[in-house]
Amino acid sequence: MGSHDSALYQRNRALLRRRAVMNDMPCFYCGMPFDFNTRRTTAPLAFTVDHVVPVAAGGTDRLENLVPAHYRCNRAKSDTLVTPQKATGRKATRRW
Ligand SMILES: [Zn+2]
Repeated sequence: MGSHDSALYQRNRALLRRRAVMNDMPCFYCGMPFDFNTRRTTAPLAFTVDHVVPVAAGGTDRLENLVPAHYRCNRAKSDTLVTPQKATGRKATRRW
């Protein structure tokens, strides 16, 4: 993690958040709703934006590489990427 702060990323994150609020869009990974009322960015159900293809693996900040994800699910995915053998059986389904 680290340098996810390009202007494009910030713009697309704000756009995705607005869309998620308007459409009751669930988390891309677990399908549960977000807690848009929390002010803690590290709350488990807080809204975050995740790169489908990690930046470190050549992913871009373009909208098609970004999905809405809970803070906890974003974290969980980062962990599985560090240890890929734990990823078996996990399958993300696009529900929106
Ligand atoms: Zn989630």
